[in-house]
Amino acid sequence: MALNQSGWRPTTPEAGSNAAPTFTGNKALMLEEALIFEIGSTDTTGVEVAAPVTSASRLGALARTAPIGLPGLSEPETIRHYTRLSRQNYAIDLGLFPLGSCTMKHNPRLNEKMARLPGFADVHPLQPVDTVQGALGVINELAFWLIDLTGMHGVAMSPKAGAHGELCGMLCIKAALEKRGEGHRKVVLVPESAHGTNPATAAFAGFTVEDIPATAGGRVDTEALKARLGPDVAAVMITNPNTCGLFERDLKAISDAVHAAGGYVYCDGANFNAIVGRVRPGDLGIDAMHINLHKTFSTPHGGGGPGSGPTVLSEALAPFGPLPFTARMKDGHIALIEEETAGDDHPDTFGRMTAFHGQMGMFTRALTYILSHGADGLRQVAEDAVLNANYVLRSLEDTLDAPFAFAGPCMHEAIFSDEGFPEGFSTIDVAKALIDEGFHPMTMYFPLVVHGAMLIEPTETESKAALDQFIGALRSVAERAKAGDASLKTAPHFAPRSRLDETLAARKPKLVWREPVVASEAAE
Ligand SMILES: *Cc1c(COP(=O)(O)O)cnc(C)c1O
Repeated sequence: MALNQSGWRPTTPEAGSNAAPTFTGNKALMLEEALIFEIGSTDTTGVEVAAPVTSASRLGALARTAPIGLPGLSEPETIRHYTRLSRQNYAIDLGLFPLGSCTMKHNPRLNEKMARLPGFADVHPLQPVDTVQGALGVINELAFWLIDLTGMHGVAMSPKAGAHGELCGMLCIKAALEKRGEGHRKVVLVPESAHGTNPATAAFAGFTVEDIPATAGGRVDTEALKARLGPDVAAVMITNPNTCGLFERDLKAISDAVHAAGGYVYCDGANFNAIVGRVRPGDLGIDAMHINLHKTFSTPHGGGGPGSGPTVLSEALAPFGPLPFTARMKDGHIALIEEETAGDDHPDTFGRMTAFHGQMGMFTRALTYILSHGADGLRQVAEDAVLNANYVLRSLEDTLDAPFAFAGPCMHEAIFSDEGFPEGFSTIDVAKALIDEGFHPMTMYFPLVVHGAMLIEPTETESKAALDQFIGALRSVAERAKAGDASLKTAPHFAPRSRLDETLAARKPKLVWREPVVASEAAE
């Protein structure tokens, strides 16, 4: 698109509107924003620094010979640039974020207030332990809650995301097998209904991954899994509730069979939001499970924001867990167990996963969330999350194909397919039209076992009114898709940019900005 003189892109009103295009390209409060390179010039700067007292440069051949080419902007220009860009984004504070598997829920402001207390926000990981007893106390108390809520034996607090927690659990399993002299067990069984990070983690940890099929009802095929157990199987990795939004009812029987065959059970606990306070994974025979603090226990995430994936461990695996960990001593003081050589009480640890102690800010937020809900409040979180998802499922199953609805209620996620859409229409058209309706799209084409999957997780923090509006929007869009409404193919129409070629953008990203050649110069 051509830039006009002032650097702005002209905009054309929606078809059918009799408004003239605006000079600026802005559409009222929807402000166009050019790249920072297009609005800033290299000879401007927001700061004025006194010229340095000249001294001989010691850079030698490394001294820069050409300008660096960074755009310069004044402070107000900089603030406006980034504020304008931020307004083109979607956020949980703007509206419902139905991304299945991500648990995008409200982040209570109280969490933020606590995390910003200087005693937590300003501590340094290398401070002497005596000066950070409060912060260590938070880690220790949160660890107790996680152990209590899951019915497990121990917890590794340092993993920094869900997938990192998976790695922690699998490294514990590897260390336990080696200690038993059974390091030859290399196969990890992963059901089709597991999250994609599971096979990736198993492979990364040096195991060989084998798929276990799902039943038509969307759950693990227990018989197929049992039949595959044997002396080469190290572990199974099961997501529960699984990515079809269903509870794996046979998990206890599966764990018993896996243990009898000498293997371990890893449970992907990212969906703990649906069962917290209702089910203790330890009672299901699980050996290791990560918890996404940034999902179940709120705390902001997305856009690469911080995560935290503490991994709870069974009695069998706890001795192999990573350092460091906290321990409350008899005198009430909290010790940080950091050194592999510190004593003989943890000789089997597989080592360390992070430089320091984990995501302190996330610990503070998660503990605040837990304490402000209390045990009964946490149970209600799970109940309301499941209720909301079932409300979405039952409200839309007459319009959208719901492949597992026959099997009974779902957990915290409702799943639909693109079955019944006319030729040429798919889930992406529905998702893009939802943007025009003011919603972030749902998770698309995942899980893979459902054709054109739409995975919707409303979470417990949405009101019935908000759900009704979303359901109304999705119903309207789905009906347009089923009627073959061609305008869906180019949606979104009201977003700052219309349908993009996402494949091209992902495969051939343009990461370098080049100054456009001005036509008059090019002609010279
Ligand atoms: C989010 C998620 C993960 C990965 O967690 P990250 O924190 O993104 O690494 C793993 N499994 C399931 C089921 C998830 O929903």
